[in-house]
Amino acid sequence: MAGVYIVFAKTDQTAGHRGISAFIVDAAAPGFQVSRLEAKMGIKGSTTGELYFTDMRVPAENLLGEEGEGFKIAMRVLDHSRPGIGAQALGLAQGATDYALEYAKTRETMGRPIAQHQMIAGMLADMETKCEAARGLLYKVGLMIDEGAPAADLTKFSAMSKLFCSDVAMEVTTDAVQILGGYGYVKEYPVERMMRDAKITQIYEGTNQIQRLVIAREMLREQRVFLLAGVS
Ligand SMILES: Cc1cc2nc3c(=O)[nH]c(=O)nc-3n(C[C@H](O)[C@H](O)[C@H](O)COP(=O)(O)OP(=O)(O)OC[C@H]3O[C@@H](n4cnc5c(N)ncnc54)[C@H](O)[C@@H]3O)c2cc1C
Repeated sequence: MAGVYIVFAKTDQTAGHRGISAFIVDAAAPGFQVSRLEAKMGIKGSTTGELYFTDMRVPAENLLGEEGEGFKIAMRVLDHSRPGIGAQALGLAQGATDYALEYAKTRETMGRPIAQHQMIAGMLADMETKCEAARGLLYKVGLMIDEGAPAADLTKFSAMSKLFCSDVAMEVTTDAVQILGGYGYVKEYPVERMMRDAKITQIYEGTNQIQRLVIAREMLREQRVFLLAGVS
């Protein structure tokens, strides 16, 4: 679909992550091909393809930043793009909560709307609370970006927002499917799609295992020794 791609490639095989450079690649360049579109579990409104390069030449002026800076550029971009995945996840979670709530008010079993059965009411309360907590963290990161927060803080909070919002999305959309019962599992209702779409938010832009590594790494650099004062 895209006319321009950012391609990260090894320009020095021996230099580890310092041997990666970023290039702006025009889709019309000779030798460039999208060889296949992937069949995916969800996010079917967005195409994901395999890129193929056959003897393709990239003009020197298409180098993004300096040679060997690709990894650094990618990491800097991630600090700003991870909250975007958090927002995608939160939208799914809130949408699933809203849908499940309306459904639970109208579907009746054992003489009353299922929303009045305590186990369903409890699930709805948890879903709403998780969404609100995720929103608080996500908006905090938005404010930090607007206010130019220090890079290390942004790295940690950006990872935290992506991690929390996407885990909430997976939990909440799964609960929404449960609340709709059999209808939750059929495509006539939107919550099964929300559940499939939620899964990718735990995977791309760095898996949630990687977010946890990033958060812990930043925590280990922080000094909180004052908290130990008075503890013998
Ligand atoms: C639909 C879709 C769109 C995508 N779009 C893009 C895109 O636009 N640009 C782009 O660059 N990439 C994109 N990706 C790639 C995506 O970012 C990666 O698939 C993702 O980061 C995971 O990397 P991987 O697949 O290599 O998994 P792996 O790194 O092989 O991980 C496999 C499993 O091992 C775990 N794991 C790996 N290392 C560790 C560790 N050190 N500690 C603990 N657990 C670990 C992972 O969390 C995961 O559970 C896309 C992927 C998909 C599916």
